[in-house]
Amino acid sequence: MIAENISGLKQEIGQNVQLIVVSKYRTIEEIKEAYQAGQRLFAENRVQALLERKEALPDDIVWHLIGHLQSNKVKYIAPFISCIQSIDSIELLELVNQQAAKNGRTIDCLLQVHIAVEETKFGLSEAECETLIAQAKTKGLMNIRIKGLMGMASNSDDQGQVKAEFLKLQTLYNKLKEENGFDTLSMGMSGDYQLAISCGSNMVRVGSKVFS
Ligand SMILES: *Cc1c(COP(=O)(O)O)cnc(C)c1O
Repeated sequence: MIAENISGLKQEIGQNVQLIVVSKYRTIEEIKEAYQAGQRLFAENRVQALLERKEALPDDIVWHLIGHLQSNKVKYIAPFISCIQSIDSIELLELVNQQAAKNGRTIDCLLQVHIAVEETKFGLSEAECETLIAQAKTKGLMNIRIKGLMGMASNSDDQGQVKAEFLKLQTLYNKLKEENGFDTLSMGMSGDYQLAISCGSNMVRVGSKVFS
C-alpha cells in the first residue's frame, strides 16, 4: 500500500517536484516500508523523534526538519541533518551555521514564511524574510546555504484562500530567487499539494496520503 502510494504520487507530481515523505507519528515499520519502496527523503517535525528514527533506520536516508527548532537542540541534529525547512530567525540561522561548522558540514536551510491565517503557525512575515536574508549576507555565514522558502497554507476547505496564500509565497520566491540563488519552494501537503504545484511549488511534504 505504502509503496503504491509513493509510486502513484511520484508519477503524479513529475520529476521536477521533489517528494518529501513526512514520517512523523508513523512506526519504524511503516517508514521502513517507504524506504524499501525506494524513498530516501524523509522529514520529521520534532527533534527527539527525528533522533530516535535516525538511529533505528538506514544511514542513507536524507533527513529534513520541518517543525519549529529550539536553539538548544540544534547541536543534536547538526551532525547529520540535510535540510532545516523551519528557519525563522537570524539567531537560529547563526546557530545552525556555528554547529554546522563544528561538524565540518554545510546545512541547507529554507526560510519558513507565515502565509496562513492561523495564528499558531510559526514563520516569518515577508518583510522579516527579506530582512533575514540581508542580515545573513552581511554576516557571511559559510556553513549554511539558504536554498529557498517553505510555507504552510491555511487548513481550510476554501480553495480560493489556500491558492491566494500559495500565490503570495510564489510571488515572494520569484522576487528573491535570482538574486539569492534559490532553487527550492517547499509548499503543499496531502490535502493541497496539487494546488501548491500549480502555484510553482517544487517540493511537497506529504504524510497522511503516503501512509493511508
Ligand atoms: C505534518 C506536516 C506535513 C504533512 O502533512 P500531511 O497532511 O500528513 O501530508 C507537511 N508539512 C509540515 C510542516 C507538517 O508539519
